[in-house]
Amino acid sequence: MALINVHDKSFDIYLSEEKIQRRIKEIANDINKDYKGKRPLFIAILNGAFMFASDLFKSLDIEAELCFIKLASYKGMKSTGNVITSIGLEVDLYDKEVIIVEDIVDTGKTLHNFLPKLIHQQPKSLKIATLLYKSDAIAFPLHLDYVGFDIPDKFVVGYGLDYDGLGRNLKEIYQVV
Ligand code: 5GP
Repeated sequence: MALINVHDKSFDIYLSEEKIQRRIKEIANDINKDYKGKRPLFIAILNGAFMFASDLFKSLDIEAELCFIKLASYKGMKSTGNVITSIGLEVDLYDKEVIIVEDIVDTGKTLHNFLPKLIHQQPKSLKIATLLYKSDAIAFPLHLDYVGFDIPDKFVVGYGLDYDGLGRNLKEIYQVV
């Protein structure tokens, strides 16, 4: 056991730095093969995906672009569901090979609601790379193209993911005890 405390909760180590880095290199190799001769645009979702995006990007040997966006949800005046809007997406996605970079897909709601906005811009292709995936929690249909780790439905922190603002700087991923 390697317990740490973040705020009022205890967390145990779940994925070591070595495991995370090894898996990211594997994903990068897959992307290098799949996008050989192409020039994908990576859209990383802040805040959580900043470390994954950075390490993944460093392991690419193809030509690639990267931008970061923030997602915000608001309630439409008439709609009952949450509408997701993005902040910072200044690139035109028309005809681009787009890869979304996420830290974690939990219920899938965020991306499920956001993807239509991207598809509307008619990218040539649109794929999703997520470091973590809680397959037991998925409630909204979503096709994930690159998945780092399928993890249990338990709260995690570290490697970009926070608990109430803290824990993002940890090099490993920890699971709540
Ligand atoms: P979804 O819309 O897929 O349910 O949730 C996605 C977002 O919820 C993630 O981008 C992340 O911000 C947050 N989230 C879901 N599970 C966890 C978790 O275990 N730890 C942390 N830190 N954030 C999580």
